Amino acid sequence: RHKEDEDDLLDEEEEEEEDVGTARPLQIVVANEEEHSFSLQEAALEQLLLQKEVQDLHVVVVSVAGAFRKGKSFLLDFMLRYMYKKDWWIGGENDPLTGFTWRGGCERETTGILAWSEVFVVEKPDGQKVAVLLIDTQGAFDSQSTIKDCATLFALSTMTSSVQVRLSIWNRASTVTIKKCDLFAALQLFTEYGRLAMEEVYEKPFQTLMFLIRDWCYPYEHQYGLEGGQSFLEKRLQVKQNQHEELQNVRKHIHSCFSNISCFLLPHPGLKVATNPHFDGRLRDIDDEFKRALQDLIPTLLSPENLVEKEIGGVKITCRDLLHYFKAYMKIYQG
Ligand code: GDP
Ligand code: MG
Repeated sequence: RHKEDEDDLLDEEEEEEEDVGTARPLQIVVANEEEHSFSLQEAALEQLLLQKEVQDLHVVVVSVAGAFRKGKSFLLDFMLRYMYKKDWWIGGENDPLTGFTWRGGCERETTGILAWSEVFVVEKPDGQKVAVLLIDTQGAFDSQSTIKDCATLFALSTMTSSVQVRLSIWNRASTVTIKKCDLFAALQLFTEYGRLAMEEVYEKPFQTLMFLIRDWCYPYEHQYGLEGGQSFLEKRLQVKQNQHEELQNVRKHIHSCFSNISCFLLPHPGLKVATNPHFDGRLRDIDDEFKRALQDLIPTLLSPENLVEKEIGGVKITCRDLLHYFKAYMKIYQG
């Protein structure tokens, strides 16, 4: 019956190959908010990671994480454009965005982890082929009871990705109530799980973490983009004498968890994006400043020379290994 299962898998793959247009987001982890539990969609994950062209390639896992309505899907759709079409990737003025479904309005979507069903094969400048996975990690921060669930979900995403993009919003008012701020809540979640993972290995357990701060409105203090982000981050991550001890520890610890921490300041995309319910992602409706920033951001994450392969314990892993780790991590959380 094993053989049969394998045949089924192959059939599905062939169907996928015939029609590229059928690529879609696959839910690989489902959160059950009532029961505060998570379940791995093993069949979907196997279908994704055991495709024969990619299963033995080193894997690059780029995950966009954040709460609802932070613009994850919007960003991921631009990443898809880049992956599908490298030249003039950003698209035509009147092309609606497609891919990871996103929409205006404020109803909630399912919490969990989604992966794009097509695994991209990219040749790095050294000739090595790698498999690139795009992941959408959607957490909920809306009540005390969901914060722990969210921590688990984010930790799972951190442990299984090589590049995690943390989308947040920053506003001046939140510097006062720093603990409420997304950015620092996230730092805290990461560092707790980082500590756990570090008991097992000597190297820094995680690779790249990018804080992506959207709707940045202080370019005269820190300019848009990576450089401004870096100076902003340095300022925010400084350990100062008069800080709360907990916060000091988080800041120290975060550097010992990730090999590379960066920050990118993204301008506001314009009022049509933010408020028009009929906005469908076309470039015409997006501010130029934002488009320029995207042209900078997306290749920073996804151009062949910038791809970061997922490592565990200092060793690059394949898609097949990743499947194994997903299952193992899930077991740990289920206790
Ligand atoms: P997700 O729930 O995190 O996947 O968020 P979506 O990508 O679905 O976006 C939610 C809403 O925010 C949509 O109406 C987008 O048009 C809008 N949006 C996307 N990116 C940005 C941004 O950078 N700034 C602002 N203000 N709105 C954005
Ligand atoms: Mg979304």
